[in-house]
Amino acid sequence: MIRDYYNTNADDLLNKKLFLFDMDGTIYEEDRIFDGTIDLLNLIKERGGRYVFITNNSSKSVVDYIDKVAKMGIKASEEDFFTSSQATALFFRKKYPNDLIYCQGTKSLIAELKSKGLHVTEKQEDGIKVVLTGFDTELNFEKLRNTCQILTEREVDYYATNPDLVCPVSFGFVPDNGSVAIMIKNATGKYPTFIGKPETMMVDICCEKFGFTKDEAVIIGDRLYTDIQTGINAKMANICVLTGEATLKDIEEGDIKPMYVFESVRVLHDLLAKAGGAS
Ligand SMILES: [Mg+2]
Repeated sequence: MIRDYYNTNADDLLNKKLFLFDMDGTIYEEDRIFDGTIDLLNLIKERGGRYVFITNNSSKSVVDYIDKVAKMGIKASEEDFFTSSQATALFFRKKYPNDLIYCQGTKSLIAELKSKGLHVTEKQEDGIKVVLTGFDTELNFEKLRNTCQILTEREVDYYATNPDLVCPVSFGFVPDNGSVAIMIKNATGKYPTFIGKPETMMVDICCEKFGFTKDEAVIIGDRLYTDIQTGINAKMANICVLTGEATLKDIEEGDIKPMYVFESVRVLHDLLAKAGGAS
């Protein structure tokens, strides 16, 4: 029998086929892969399942991610990833196929949107229909000023790829897109609609694309208000690991309650391997 950190029966996890992994704080931290990650990924494959890395981080493209995880020893291809940039591109292709999009984001994000046939500008041009902000590790004051001016002077729709307040790095955290959205709100009074987790769009698309039901899927992450809330919103099994942001105190005292809690992907792997027969 599989028991989680709080002794909850987690045998249901043996029936899961689609494992949707958060990355930062769940399987690695910056460039350091967590012990147990490769074993867990191999176990899922050996048992006929599949995994997808889903991330709210819109500063990197899928090609960047393939490269990043390859350096850690994870062999992955394009379809093993789903980013909030890709979700945004899919959503915008439906909603703004011919409209001009102003984007405050990295070169990677802008290239990704353009590669999907969207019309994107980084300048104040005539005819801008929608403003998008991504997690922009190339952000500067000129970009912020442009974004604020457009939001103040024009009637535009306004979206952000992801609501994360901070992004984990080796020494702690740096501000992420959700914090920038608050900064812009202080200046303009405008606040975006968010696209990534905890909205269910990303996990819904993964289930559909790979042909699994929500009952066959589980989302694994380290952050309560994005990863775990996505599982709750999508009515999908969810696992919180303690290797990233969420602490036991957050889980015990907060409103967002994970279905299962495990210390790490190592602990999760060892329990799944033992319960399902040695592998
Ligand atoms: Mg994370």
